[in-house]
Amino acid sequence: MTSVVTTKKIAPYTITGVSVGGVYTSLKIPELGVLFDAGFPIRSFAGTDHIIISHGHGDHVGGLGALLGIRGLLHRKAPAKIYAPAKVIESIKDVILAMSKMQRHDLPAEWIPMNPGDEVQLKSDLYARAFRTFHVVPSNGYQLFRKVRKLKPELEGLPGREIAERRKRGEEVTNESERLEVAYATDTLPRVLEKNPSILKSRVLILECTFLNEKKSLKDSRAGGHIHLDELLEYADQFENDHLVLMHFSLLYSPREARAILEERLPKHLFERVTVFAPKSGPWP
Ligand SMILES: [Zn+2]
Ligand SMILES: [Zn+2]
Repeated sequence: MTSVVTTKKIAPYTITGVSVGGVYTSLKIPELGVLFDAGFPIRSFAGTDHIIISHGHGDHVGGLGALLGIRGLLHRKAPAKIYAPAKVIESIKDVILAMSKMQRHDLPAEWIPMNPGDEVQLKSDLYARAFRTFHVVPSNGYQLFRKVRKLKPELEGLPGREIAERRKRGEEVTNESERLEVAYATDTLPRVLEKNPSILKSRVLILECTFLNEKKSLKDSRAGGHIHLDELLEYADQFENDHLVLMHFSLLYSPREARAILEERLPKHLFERVTVFAPKSGPWP
């Protein structure tokens, strides 16, 4: 039997979950304690405290109520924090409320509306910032980053003793900077890469690539607000990421086909850094 969950090790992170375009997407990064989207209620994801929702389509939020229900079975878990586009968060809440009414059972959660540009602290030095994606309904992408302190560039090369003395004298020797860890952009036109070029510099970029060849026309792909590989190829030299995770593939392709098409069509220098988020063999879950 095929497992629902696919797991990819992408040092220093693990990306685990499921993603099939239009069917369900839910990806967990255990090292960061976050879940991107909840299109399918995976039991082992129910304990994740930060649930980050891209948009209100069923394949991205359809499993949320069931997931919160499973969380309720866990011992003494605080309500999950749910981050979602400000324009749809009330509708998502309504769905969850209707579900808890129907079940006569509370599904508590803490709701955090996110507009493009909004920034929240997830834990200690880890933050999330929303950015705009380009879909047929209101949608967000998210950049996860760490705030770190770095030695001021003008002090680089000075002996450690000298820096320590300056610090002792009360001089500010470091600047705060952002280390871009993981960006998540799904259900969007490729324009997202132009409008938010910093995601091309994120250590890991998780990006949708729903359509891969002529089985879907570029026109229809655009009409649905999705990325077609024909268009992604135009950006092939711009990805500075250590890893580019491609996901949300259409059912038009089997997992094996998706991998073969990407290997054939992507330039080698990019394919080497690409993780095809699909089961190794067999059908889609
Ligand atoms: Zn989708
Ligand atoms: Zn969608």
